Parts: sequence; structure tokens; C-alpha cells
Amino acid sequence: MESKGSISIKLLLLLHLFVLCASQDFDFYYFVQQWPGSYCDTQNSCCYPTTGKPAADFGIHGLWPNYKDGSYPSNCDPNNRFQQSQISDLTSSLQRNWPTLACPSGNGVQFWTHEWEKHGTCSESLLKQHDYFEAALDLKQRSNLLRALTNAGIQPNGGSYSLSSIKGAIKDAIGYTPYIECNVDESRNSQLYQVYLCVDTSASHFIECPVFPSGKCASQIEFPSF
Ligand code: 5GP
Ligand code: 5GP
Repeated sequence: MESKGSISIKLLLLLHLFVLCASQDFDFYYFVQQWPGSYCDTQNSCCYPTTGKPAADFGIHGLWPNYKDGSYPSNCDPNNRFQQSQISDLTSSLQRNWPTLACPSGNGVQFWTHEWEKHGTCSESLLKQHDYFEAALDLKQRSNLLRALTNAGIQPNGGSYSLSSIKGAIKDAIGYTPYIECNVDESRNSQLYQVYLCVDTSASHFIECPVFPSGKCASQIEFPSF
């Protein structure tokens, strides 16, 4: 016979497990945007989407659940496949704001599928497919990175800008310090490739990043045209 005490301890443990499972298993999101000029002017080059050359603006790369220790979950639910029918009302906005530049040319569905299945499924308890893509579109509009930079005189004209002026311009406009990821063009010049902003688990507020990715840009970097 088990004592009443040991039964209630077991119940408490079960309850604890239940609460743990029901809460989301990540700490914050990275919202990552890419500069198309820097994706395209590398040795690998790029392919415009089948829907045409994207606007000269930052495009969404992804909305990535992350842990405070810098690690991250991925491919969290193989049973929750990307379904275009769930986002049909967002397709044209996704084509404009989340264009694919990988080769061969695609219409975006492969890129969105990859992002949903690798990252989106890791916050599926909070954001269903439709809401995940809608949240990213909304964050892009609210961040308006290109305006933040051009207002500070930082233009995509092939010029060279200090990394600190780029971070400062974004911090002044949005209120939070971004992480800047660089890549190199064909002449090995360091250039502005991706901008990471941190977002709370509700996917609605920018926050200070609990941790930044590792990797470094040069102190002066190029902002190529597109
Ligand atoms: P790379 O190795 O090119 O930096 O990243 C390859 C891919 O790994 C990214 O596109 C993204 O899917 C994932 N990834 C890289 N770094 C991070 C990170 O810090 N957090 C999350 N959530 N995903 C990342
Ligand atoms: P991540 O790096 O997020 O794991 O995934 C990037 C994947 O999406 C790669 O397999 C890449 O080929 C594909 N992809 C398709 N279009 C794009 C694009 O425009 N930019 C980036 N960075 N990756 C893209």
C-alpha cells in the first residue's frame, strides 16, 4: 500500500511535468532580415524569384526560437508540415517581404517551408503557421530597417560605413541594439549581410538580446546596392 503522502508527491510531480510541457520551450526569437545586395554579390551569386526581382529592401530570412544560452531548438515537429493553403491570404505579401534568392529560382514556397519546418515548428504551441508568418511580416514592417539606416545617412550605395554607426542608427530608430552579420563580396570586402533583432516569446515586442550570436564584422563594412 502506498501512503497518501507519496501519492500526493507523485501528483505534484505530474502536475509540474504538465506545466513544463505546456509552456513553450524557448526563451526568445531572433528576427533575421537579409540585405539582398549582399546575398547576391558573393561568389555564389543568387537567383531572383520566379515572381521577379525583389525590391531594394531588407527581406525576411526567418523568425527563430532561441535559448538564452545561445543554443536553439530546430525541426521540432515532423508532423506539422508547411501547408500553403493556410497562408494563401499572405502569399503576395510574403513574395514581397520574404523573397527567396537561392538558386535555382523559386517562388518562395521552398524557403518558407524550410523556415517553418526548421524554426516555426519550435514555437507551434504559441503561433500556428498562419500566425507565425503574419507575425514575421508585422515585425518587418515595424522595424523598417532601411528607413532607420537611410535616415542616418547610411545608404545602399556601395559605400563603407562604420559598424558602430550602423548599430547606432538601428538602435536609435527601434530602441534596441541589433546584431549585425557580415559576409564577403567577390573581392573579399566585409559587408552588411543580415540584421538580427530580438523579440519576446509572444512575437510582438522587440527586446534587448539576451545573447548575441558569435561572429564578427570588420569595423568598417560595405553596404552594397541591389
Ligand atoms: P549559419 O551557419 O549560416 O550561420 O546558419 C545556418 C542556419 O542555422 C541559419 O539559417 C539558421 O537556420 C540556423 N541558425 C544559425 N544561427 C542560429 C542562431 O543563433 N539561432 C537560431 N535559432 N538559428 C540559427
Ligand atoms: P537556414 O539557413 O535558415 O537554415 O536556411 C536557409 C535555407 O533556405 C538554405 O537551404 C537556403 O538554400 C534556403 N534559402 C532559400 N532562399 C534563401 C534566401 O533568400 N536566403 C537564405 N539565406 N537562404 C535561402
